[in-house]
This record gives sequence, C-alpha cells and structure tokens, in this order.
Amino acid sequence: MRPSQFNLRVPLAERDEEFLLNTLTDAQLVVSADVAALLDRLAAGEFIGAPSATSDEIEALDLLAENGFLVANHEEDQQALDRFLSGVKSDTTELNVTLLTTLQCNFACDYCFQGDHGDYNKFAEKMTLATAERAAEWMTRELDRIHPERLVLTFFGGEPLLNLPVMYLIAERMWEATQARGVEMYVNIITNGLLLTEEVVDRMRPFGLNGVKITLDGDRDTHNRMRPLRGGQGTFDRILENIRAVADRCPISIGGNFDERSVDSYPALLAFLKEQAFADKLVKVNFKPIFRTDEVKPSSVPAPGSDSERGRSLLSAPDGRRLIPLTPVGSGAQSLKGSCFTAAGEGGGTACDACGVLDDKMTFLRHETKRLGFPTHDGVHNGPCHVHMSHAHTIGPDGSLYPCPGFTGQLALSTGHIDDRLEARRENARERFLRLSPWKECGDCAFIPVCAGGCVAASYSQLGDMNTPTCHKQSMQSAVISLAHDAVSAVA
Ligand code: SF4
Ligand code: SF4
Repeated sequence: MRPSQFNLRVPLAERDEEFLLNTLTDAQLVVSADVAALLDRLAAGEFIGAPSATSDEIEALDLLAENGFLVANHEEDQQALDRFLSGVKSDTTELNVTLLTTLQCNFACDYCFQGDHGDYNKFAEKMTLATAERAAEWMTRELDRIHPERLVLTFFGGEPLLNLPVMYLIAERMWEATQARGVEMYVNIITNGLLLTEEVVDRMRPFGLNGVKITLDGDRDTHNRMRPLRGGQGTFDRILENIRAVADRCPISIGGNFDERSVDSYPALLAFLKEQAFADKLVKVNFKPIFRTDEVKPSSVPAPGSDSERGRSLLSAPDGRRLIPLTPVGSGAQSLKGSCFTAAGEGGGTACDACGVLDDKMTFLRHETKRLGFPTHDGVHNGPCHVHMSHAHTIGPDGSLYPCPGFTGQLALSTGHIDDRLEARRENARERFLRLSPWKECGDCAFIPVCAGGCVAASYSQLGDMNTPTCHKQSMQSAVISLAHDAVSAVA
C-alpha cells in the first residue's frame, strides 16, 4: 500500500495531530501523530503489515484505506481519477442551464466592457420572447432525454432584470415542465441588485426561486467608484435598500470582485454588512479576484477561432480591458462545484504577475468573512466546474449553446443551438470540449479532483490553449489549512 496522490495533510502542531483530506473521496480525518508517521513510512516505501505491525497499526491502516488515503499503487489512483472525471462528465443527476437573457446592463462598471458604456447597450443582444419559448422547449426536450432529478436555472447577463418578461416566461414554462415530470427545480438570479424589488422576488418565488446573488465591489465609496451608473452616480445605497426590502423573502448571497485597487476596502464592507439587520440571513458571502491583463487590440474582423477572435470574447473588451465577472451560484447548500472560482473565469497562473498577490488577498478575505460569521466558500472544493459537465449549458440571447458562461459570444466555440440545428462548426466545438483534459498537465497534484486544471475560459483567453492549466494552487493550499482548523474547531 502507498499513500494516495490525492492526500492533503495539515499538521496541527498545537494538538500533536494531523488533518487529512483526500480530494478524490472527500474523506476528512484528524489523526494522531503516530498515524501521520505511518503515512510517512509508507511514503518512504517501507512495508508495514503483519506480522510485525501492531494491532493498532493494522486498525489505522484499515481506516486509512477505507477512506481512500491508501491505495495499492499509482495506477489505482489514476483509474479512480478517470472514473471520477468521467462520472462528472456524464452525470445526469442535474440539468444545469445558465440563461443570458440579455447582454445589456444598466451599470458602467470600471472593469467591464459590457454595460452602459458608449453605445454598447444599443447593439447588445437581448433574448426575444420567441427565443425564450424555444429555449424552454429545448430544456424540456433535455429533461425528457436525460431524466435528471433536478433542473437548476441561473438567470445571468448582462443584467438579467433588464429583461423580466423573458425571465418570467422561462421560469413559468420550466416550472410547469418540471412539475409535470416530478423533477425538482431551483432558480438562481445573479444581478447587480439595482432593479431587485419585492415584486420581482414574489413573481419568481412560486417557480423555485433558490437564491439571488448580488455583487458589491467593496465598501460604499469603492463600490460606487467601481460600479457606477453611466452618469457616475453611485449605486451602493439603492442596492442596499433593495436587499433590505427582499431579505425576508428569499435567500440572498453577496459576491464581490476585487483587484489590487479595491481589495483593501473589503474589510469595511464586511463590517458594514455585519451591522445590517439582514446579516444573519445572508446565505453566502464570497469575494473573488479579477485580473487585468495586457491590452489586446484586435485590428480587423477576426477569423473564427483565431487568436484575435479570442480577444473579442466576453473575457476581453474591444479596448483591451478584460474581465466579466462570472459567478454562477450553486443549488441549495451544495458547493459551487467549481463554477467560476475566479471572478471572471480569469485565472492568471503563468500569465498574470498579480496572481500570487491576489491569491494571498483572497485568503485574507476568506478569513475575514469567516471571522465575522458569514457562510462562505471553503476555497478548496472548486471543481470540476460546469465546462467539464455534459449536462451543464449556457444559452446566449440568440439561442446558441455554450459549455459555460466564459465562452458566451464566441460563436466559434458554440456547442449547439436550441433549435437542434446541426452545424459542423458547433459539432467540432462540442467534440473539442468533450476532449478537454487540462489536468493532464498537472502531474501528481493532489488538487486535481477539486480543480481539474482551473478555469478553461481563462486558459483559452489568456494562454490561447484550453488544455493549459490556470493554476491557483497557492490559494487552495491556504484554503486547506483554513479548512483543517475549521474542522478541528467543529469537533472540539
Ligand atoms: S471554465 Fe472558467 S468560466 Fe467556465 S465554468 Fe469553469 S471556472 Fe467558470
Ligand atoms: S491547476 Fe494547479 S492546483 Fe489545479 S490541478 Fe493543476 S496543478 Fe493542481
């Protein structure tokens, strides 16, 4: 026997114990220093077993093996990983659809090329009611094809509340379809919060409204600077009023996108949130870094799939600014299963010098968020994200299908269409995503089952290759240490 490649170990010096996590089985144990020493001996290639091992040692080895911390050999680990990842890909438990009902937005955010800048909104796509009907029909066909236990719908944009008729129509149609088939349905809305009202919430509640996620980019002054209206007016106070109005009616989570300039204002935001009457109703508070990259200036109409076309994706602005915060929410109490563990799907890794700095900041903010008692993401269970799941889709305003929100707008990477039209380029893209395996570049990294090589949209946008990992190992290592201390306090 040998220790699994997927073991993570955190020494708890003050207790003379060690926290163990296996990322493949998700088993977590706190073991004595003696058991940790057994793992060290096995890692060194020492044979431990009858007749020389004590009964305590045999018992400890059995426990470790039962929980996946010991495997026969490297091949066993690899085969288990392959089974796990193909299970994720083919899993039919959930049909997960993110609907971009419009690419228009009423904000003029500093870091986003979408929204109320110039004449962007004049030309930005908006889903029509006819397309919404067809999207509902396509999802209903999918329900009948894969027979999931649940449907999770996430309304996203642009700003989804700028296209309420489409959101209402799809929610209502899919509620009827799921109820007729005995399928659970959860609806999430990711909004900037400016148009969030009791009326909107009450209209959506009968259709499985599971949560509303609102973005606050720092304390009042910072948020107002980062997320103003076109005329420069601040939006913080109005959003807070709206949250107060609906906090009793639906679960609210708060997201935020920070960069080097805004990150220091987040502790003040957390302190402010803590003082609010709705503080104990927030179901999640989670902040993510955004990364600015070098300017990309496409000079002419790009060929599909070319480097310059990549520069026109949702992840990069015509003027070279990048970054669209992509923050799908999970259903119920489940982890995000990796959806967009950086704000923009913009990983960084080898491409971004700020990455290490911002990973540190993310660790600090996670710690602060927990210290104030807010539920937050553990920073470890990040993936595999939707791009690796055959039954997770994003529908663009024109009915094009994408494997995740990070690729929306790149027609060369559309994997299908709600009309089921067969087009070679979409088929090719679908095949390409089915073959994705960036983790193959990750060697013997213990995080592969909860990371799978990072954000593929960031890899494509920044590195030009979906199969090159964008790595946030440093941040995940800090998160494991934090998880270990939380686990120990929970059982103390
Ligand atoms: S590839 Fe990136 S943008 Fe797409 S779902 Fe995964 S983390 Fe999010
Ligand atoms: S991207 Fe980094 S953390 Fe993720 S699996 Fe690969 S090496 Fe590990």
